[in-house]
Amino acid sequence: STPILAGKRGLVMGVANDRSIAWGIARACADHGAELALTYQGEPLLKRVRPLADKLGATCLLDCDVTDPASLDRAFETLADRWGGLDFVVHAIAYSDKEELKGRYVDTSAENFDQTMRISCYSFTDVCRRADRLMSEGGSLLTLTYYGAEQVMPHYNVMGVAKAALEASVRYIANDLGPRGIRVNAISAGPIRTLAASGIGDFRFILKWNEYNAPMRRNITIDQVGGSAVYLLSDLGAGVTGEVHHVDSGYHTVGMVAPDSAPE
Ligand code: NAD
Repeated sequence: STPILAGKRGLVMGVANDRSIAWGIARACADHGAELALTYQGEPLLKRVRPLADKLGATCLLDCDVTDPASLDRAFETLADRWGGLDFVVHAIAYSDKEELKGRYVDTSAENFDQTMRISCYSFTDVCRRADRLMSEGGSLLTLTYYGAEQVMPHYNVMGVAKAALEASVRYIANDLGPRGIRVNAISAGPIRTLAASGIGDFRFILKWNEYNAPMRRNITIDQVGGSAVYLLSDLGAGVTGEVHHVDSGYHTVGMVAPDSAPE
């Protein structure tokens, strides 16, 4: 049978290394027949990202820092020249000063608040507006979020506030672009050991806690995020937009943990 993403062309933003959630998604998309372009955040990351792109046969590698609108413009101009159109975009980008991913949220600085919001929330809006222009036949836009947007999680702080804004923006953008046949969704992933996660305090404890208390009694993998992403990016997800889909072994459904389940 025809692969689910055959004939679809997609841009994946946020591969830093082979632990990145974006990498799990890119690999799943390639396995299901998509043609891919990847962005990387500046020259120093290219030596890691190029071999990964090669593995997927992704010939289009674009330097893009989302704080630099000119680099976003260049990336989308290159895509317009190469492909003429675009079917999906994956946005797996976030940043906050790790000094503010510990201690009290109330002590967060204005500078880091602005920077965290800009990179972790506004950049998705910025990307969606540019992608919209290349999606005359409809499309699917996907970002990554975390449960810390909905409930207080230890140390997530300003990033939780930014993810809450990101999730709200998913609903607004879905409503803006829906009439053009463009769907907009987020995957709320459970904790995964990645470069970005290493900035979060007590991350080992958080992983253990999820493993002990999620209905599946295990953590998730980037491949599992990839599987759910393929559904949302492909026509299988044609009826789904404005949604925050949890890929977290069911952790968010549990109201109170069993008295005997606790990490050592
Ligand atoms: P990662 O470190 O592999 O990826 C983060 C990416 O963001 C990197 O590729 C980095 O280059 C990119 N980035 C940061 N600032 C940028 C900028 N100014 N311009 C362009 N790119 C920039 O970590 P990850 O965990 O795979 O993170 C991907 C997404 O998944 C993030 O949105 C993160 O918040 C989200 N997420 C992660 C977890 C987790 O536990 N790891 C859980 C839920 C959601």
